[in-house]
Amino acid sequence: RADLALYAAKEKGRDNLALFEPALDRKARERRETENDLREALTRGQMRMHYQSIVDLDSGETTGFEALLRWYHPSRGIIAPGEFLQIAEETGMITALGEWVIRQTLSDAASIPGEFRIAINLSPTQVKNPNLVATVAQAIHATGIVPERVELEITEHVLMDQGEAGHVTLLRLRELGVRIALDDFGTGYSSLAYLRRFPFDRIKIDRTFVTDVASDIGSQAIISTITRLADALGMDTTAEGIEDRRQLDILRKLGVHEAQGFLISRPVPPEEVTLIASDGTGEGDEQGMELSEEY
Ligand code: C2E
Ligand code: MG
Ligand code: MG
Ligand code: MG
Repeated sequence: RADLALYAAKEKGRDNLALFEPALDRKARERRETENDLREALTRGQMRMHYQSIVDLDSGETTGFEALLRWYHPSRGIIAPGEFLQIAEETGMITALGEWVIRQTLSDAASIPGEFRIAINLSPTQVKNPNLVATVAQAIHATGIVPERVELEITEHVLMDQGEAGHVTLLRLRELGVRIALDDFGTGYSSLAYLRRFPFDRIKIDRTFVTDVASDIGSQAIISTITRLADALGMDTTAEGIEDRRQLDILRKLGVHEAQGFLISRPVPPEEVTLIASDGTGEGDEQGMELSEEY
């Protein structure tokens, strides 16, 4: 079969080879291409941070932004991290990429007017790296940002994989003055156990509970319970992935503190954040939605 495919491909010219390629080979080749392109992406200036606003559900005001990595690929367009983070992790490229993310985000933050909170995602490999604390400290020092404005988002995988070392790293980060949030809460195996092990500043309620909150009383019960638990533990709550008005209203009634999602704003490049941040109303939601496109 392979011979036949090759023969046919030769007949028709090299470009047609892909047509005969089994799906698995194609996946492997695409992965290799992504991996090779990724090696050059940072030095070629193809990475940018986008920012998604987070609002207070009582006041409607913007309280902060989450930094989300985007790859401006020369031929494939803007690529979200789901398509390359895993590869970055497996190849170790996440170290350089993650350090760049921290420096770039804090430097972007310095040019955003106002005292907004800036959230940065950290992968398990980043937290495993003993240099992380120094990287964060240096970036804070270089940009002069107040450390309390910086929030680092980790998932429970971090503590699961790294155990004691991860725990110590989080404590040292906390000593710098930065906040720590537990991301995607409720999706892992032992979310509750981690709340007891580490004094998080914030719980981010995963989008899966938000999606059907308007129609499913089970999701409502879970969100309401997470919120009361967070209140009792002195932690703030942010619900992720709000896409419509009904979700927003229910989340507010359930006592969730803050909300984030396409309804409020898509993640936008820094120059648009500056517009949202300086529009004075502190809402900037429609503006954000109008200006942003796919990402
Ligand atoms: P996350 O931290 O949970 O980020 C939220 C994700 O949900 C983002 O996807 C965001 O674009 C998306 N989102 C926000 N609102 C909505 C909504 O209303 N509906 C839907 N369907 N999606 C919404 P994104 O940007 O593709 O990032 C995916 C994940 O990649 C992030 O999940 C985070 O774990 C990771 N990530 C993103 N940026 C970075 C980074 O700079 N460093 C690291 N280590 N990880 C990152
Ligand atoms: Mg996050
Ligand atoms: Mg999340
Ligand atoms: Mg998520």
